[in-house]
Amino acid sequence: MKNQYDHPKIQKLSRNGIYGILTSRVYIGIREIKTTEGTEEVPGAWQAIITDKTFEQVREVLSGNGPGPRSPRHNYIFSGLIRCARCDKKLQGKSGTGRSGQVRYYYAHPGRCAEGGLHSIEAEDAHELVDEWLARLAIDKEYFNELLEVGREGLGKQLRALKSRLKQLDHEEAALRKRLHDATTQSLSMPGSATEALREKEADKLLEQLRENEQQTEQLRSQAENLSTLLATGDPAIFRSYCDRIKDFIKLSARKKCRKVFDLLQTLTLGEEGLNVELVHADGRSFTKGGLVLVSDRITLPGVLLLKSRVFLRKLYQDEGLSTNAIARRIGVGQSTVSDAIQRHGLAKAPEDHAKRPQQVPYGYDFKSGKLVQSRSEQQIIRMVRQLRAAGMTLRDIAAHLNRKLISTKRGGVWNATTVRRILRRSHSSSL
Ligand SMILES: [Zn+2]
Repeated sequence: MKNQYDHPKIQKLSRNGIYGILTSRVYIGIREIKTTEGTEEVPGAWQAIITDKTFEQVREVLSGNGPGPRSPRHNYIFSGLIRCARCDKKLQGKSGTGRSGQVRYYYAHPGRCAEGGLHSIEAEDAHELVDEWLARLAIDKEYFNELLEVGREGLGKQLRALKSRLKQLDHEEAALRKRLHDATTQSLSMPGSATEALREKEADKLLEQLRENEQQTEQLRSQAENLSTLLATGDPAIFRSYCDRIKDFIKLSARKKCRKVFDLLQTLTLGEEGLNVELVHADGRSFTKGGLVLVSDRITLPGVLLLKSRVFLRKLYQDEGLSTNAIARRIGVGQSTVSDAIQRHGLAKAPEDHAKRPQQVPYGYDFKSGKLVQSRSEQQIIRMVRQLRAAGMTLRDIAAHLNRKLISTKRGGVWNATTVRRILRRSHSSSL
């Protein structure tokens, strides 16, 4: 059968294929001859390309791998790490049998994404894309430095924010000390008075506040110090440290990568058109607790991978009404590849659908197969808006509430009083 995806990088080696390569003595210069007694080993007429020691090490690793090569076990390297860029839910490692009968492994969104994020990505695709990106970082110094520059700018901002917070804490501390001083001297000057117990209570409270202030100051100060050290480190040194860790990681077996991935990748999210990745800082995890990231990037998904997603294609083709040609240009693939994908996902539509599509689909509805159908998620929001209104909230407050919940308008914008009023009016007239 012809490979479904004619992209050279996506042709896969099977698990058994890799096992065969890893256990073949051909690579240590040995020829195996099948005889009636079994297999006889003779020196090959070629040079070994790996050493005996490496071969033995690989064998050891394989024997410790547990289930044999026929087992359907799969190493979901990004399990527990990869999330949806839209709603931040963790994507789960899953497997399933495709139409061709081949087992596929992928990371999938639990349920449907309420924010319309991508549903899934094949595990191998994700692994390969990240590995390629990492490999590029480790050899392409110029590219790395570009990312570093952006990161430095972001961290510089964070450092300034930290310093101004520290200053504020300093002022607060001085004020607390003064109040504490006043409270204690006054109670000393009036021993035995009725207010003494009260003052002591106040002093205790002030002491407690001072301790909290000190703790926070200490924490932020060490964070600021770390950050200053980090920002003062020269680019070449930073590049080297990342480079070493990346190279170590890439060499690992998939099984080991599962465990080590958290030491290298801080976040990995599947977005609309790419994987967003943030690296853990070379000095270890302490930095990353405060969300300080020096190196981050978006790995653009190749067009052929995007086309595997029905959700993505439906959005461009049906919701946005783009032509196959426009989609092909946008994601950099051939027009026939797009048409094939549309057929494969069952998204082909009758040509007159296009003409019938109303200029503006009202909130609460989707335009599907030539007609308006209720959108469940949007109808839910309309109900919520009506309830809030019935509870006496102002249009402005409702709009602010929606924006806080990161719910976007039909056109993907933010809410204001007018847009809220519009859906209230419409839902009112349609319910009559
Ligand atoms: Zn999501």
